[in-house]
Amino acid sequence: MPQLCSVCQHPQREKIDGDIISGVSLRNIAEQCSVSTTALHRHKSGGHIPQSLTLAHEAKEVAHANTLLQQVKDLVKKACGLTDRAEHAGDLRTALSGVREVRGCLELLARVTGELQSNTTVNIAIVKNPEWIALRTKIISALQPHPAARSAVLQAIGEES
Ligand SMILES: [Zn+2]
Repeated sequence: MPQLCSVCQHPQREKIDGDIISGVSLRNIAEQCSVSTTALHRHKSGGHIPQSLTLAHEAKEVAHANTLLQQVKDLVKKACGLTDRAEHAGDLRTALSGVREVRGCLELLARVTGELQSNTTVNIAIVKNPEWIALRTKIISALQPHPAARSAVLQAIGEES
């Protein structure tokens, strides 16, 4: 006689499925919903969670990352213009603050893309213009003290570190 899955039969099953997909630890779910971690593990690895739920979650993450990438691209564009203007005016302090702003945003981006599943491809279309290349060089060197962020950024813009 086949064994019934206690998680599939659970009154809070929808919440449990959502939590598992969101990456809540099985131990936490077990404590909150009074089920065993063993049952949760079997439920998770046994393919009991509807694929549509998993796909919807991944689509949401990609959409979130794309929004963020768009914001970074806008910011980079803005910072390029700002840096260019400031450099022409000999105002290197302003130029540098623009670069710093981009760096902060790229660090956030690196964290977010790092959190994404490894099988999720995130594409970033970087304009291959001299301004961007000059700015990129500054960003990369500014990220030297943060190796993890640096390699994630390099990966995000499609270049090996
Ligand atoms: Zn199940």
